[in-house]
Amino acid sequence: MKRRSFLSASALGVAGTSLLSYPLHAAEAATWVFDRKGRKRAKNIIFMVSDGMSNGTLTMADHWLNLYREGKPRRAMMDMSSANSMVTDSAAASSSWGGGVRVPNGKLNVTADGKSNLPIWQKFQKAGKKTGCVTTVPVTHATPAGFCVSSDSRGNQEGIAMQYLDLRFDVLMGGGAKYFTERADNINLLDQFRSAGFQVAQESREMQSFHSGSPVLGVFDKDGLPYSLDRGQDAVLMQKIPTLAEMTAKSISLMKDHDKGFCLQVEGGKVDWAAHQNDTPALIYDQLAFDDAVKVALDFAENDGQTLVIITTDHGNANPGLFYNSKANAGFDSLFTMKHTNEWILRQIQHGNTTDQIHDVILHAQNPLVRLYRTHHGGTG
Ligand SMILES: [Zn+2]
Repeated sequence: MKRRSFLSASALGVAGTSLLSYPLHAAEAATWVFDRKGRKRAKNIIFMVSDGMSNGTLTMADHWLNLYREGKPRRAMMDMSSANSMVTDSAAASSSWGGGVRVPNGKLNVTADGKSNLPIWQKFQKAGKKTGCVTTVPVTHATPAGFCVSSDSRGNQEGIAMQYLDLRFDVLMGGGAKYFTERADNINLLDQFRSAGFQVAQESREMQSFHSGSPVLGVFDKDGLPYSLDRGQDAVLMQKIPTLAEMTAKSISLMKDHDKGFCLQVEGGKVDWAAHQNDTPALIYDQLAFDDAVKVALDFAENDGQTLVIITTDHGNANPGLFYNSKANAGFDSLFTMKHTNEWILRQIQHGNTTDQIHDVILHAQNPLVRLYRTHHGGTG
């Protein structure tokens, strides 16, 4: 690989555990899919994307969890530049995986000269597989949409929601209720999904009652789902909003018995939103929530024996790191006791709040850092 192209590459981890390392048992071999050359082929695919996960995010989460010390994944690099930029956006990235062609940023499976490519989940649907996407951002957002639809603009999320009605993917879960219920055309699309035979959920409890007899749509918040850290501090949110791992587990349980297999995309979409906001607690805890979903997928794959799990990111973004000073470890450790994200703090601050009131909000939400500051300067304000 030329040095220059190596520099522009991003990371890709492939855990083909079942394909690479487990002995074959006769009964199991009977259910295998083989290609013309007699090579085993995965019956199921779980494609996992931590959106905008830069190396710093992965490294900090790795420090936290020892993610990759078990040596399970096979790692590779890939060049994610889009048709019109060295820096891709999520739409072009997902389209390059989903359509196999580089497209301009902002487009979904539509090339620069306006040609539409058939998205990969539609191809697998035609091959008789069950298909699904789960995410922590709207189900109509760039990464899930890049596997599912063609659209001249990633921004046309109301149009994408309408396409989903006709395309009838088996599982769609995440956020984005407003693209179904607060639409410019005033159509209540959720009602249309119900009339078309979809099971529709807006709360975890309803998701848990999904059965595999008909397609399901779960939209658990107006836009993106709450950050994992804030959700974990709120009993109402914990009851109403499922985690990415729970949506992944439910999706697998709905599709795993299908004789022709299934394909599932799992996206930690708010990792990217947190990175855009330089919100380190939001970033790290949503990366950890993504890792919980990775565990669900790997546990299933190791048990199932016929599933390929791909874990990747589409591009870098804000790159968290630790400053070199005597408090580097304390800085990292402070993440462990944080209760809330920067976004949550900003939502608490009201016009007219005093400095002390703001201090108290920060102290409550992310206490250790502030304490360090206070001891240093010995007084308030
Ligand atoms: Zn992205």
